[in-house]
Amino acid sequence: MAFTLPELPYAKDALAPHITAETLEFHHGKHHKAYVDNLNKLLDGKPEAEKSLEAIALASEGPVFNNAAQVWNHTFYWNSMKPNGGGKPTGALLEAIDRDFGSFEKFAEAFTAAATTQFGSGWAWLVWNGSKLDVTKTGNADFPLKHGQTPLLTIDVWEHAYYIDFRNARPKYIETFLAHLANWDFASANFAKATA
Ligand code: ZN
Repeated sequence: MAFTLPELPYAKDALAPHITAETLEFHHGKHHKAYVDNLNKLLDGKPEAEKSLEAIALASEGPVFNNAAQVWNHTFYWNSMKPNGGGKPTGALLEAIDRDFGSFEKFAEAFTAAATTQFGSGWAWLVWNGSKLDVTKTGNADFPLKHGQTPLLTIDVWEHAYYIDFRNARPKYIETFLAHLANWDFASANFAKATA
């Protein structure tokens, strides 16, 4: 069964003015779609095509891994944002952030540093490592599931994620993500599942 490009969880203009419809047209409609199309071509007629995206990514390297993980990462990233997002989480996730980072502000500093210092293309993540929360960064298509960590929230720091709206100003994009876009409901639901 071929993989399909998932719909965005909001309208293309719903994240504007922070992330514009033009960015989402390219990032979702061209980049994310290309990963889906490439993966389908690579798996055409192979038994792996019947497996889940996660299973394929965890069992592969090279082009199959790169495309499978990028399909997964982008779907996770769309869900890591929402219109009128940003600010702080509440409840159990905020308590865990306070416990494991010292404060929400310390978490935001660590997340910003990871996203800023990821050299070249990649991702920054809030993860559950099995006993505590952590911030990590991964290069290119790499993702935390490959390292035994459960992702809770991510920001895409490939240039294609921010170049139309922010040009080369990656720090401004990261600041905007935390202030206006981060979907803490999604992260909290992931945290509840990971720690159930
Ligand atoms: Zn991307």
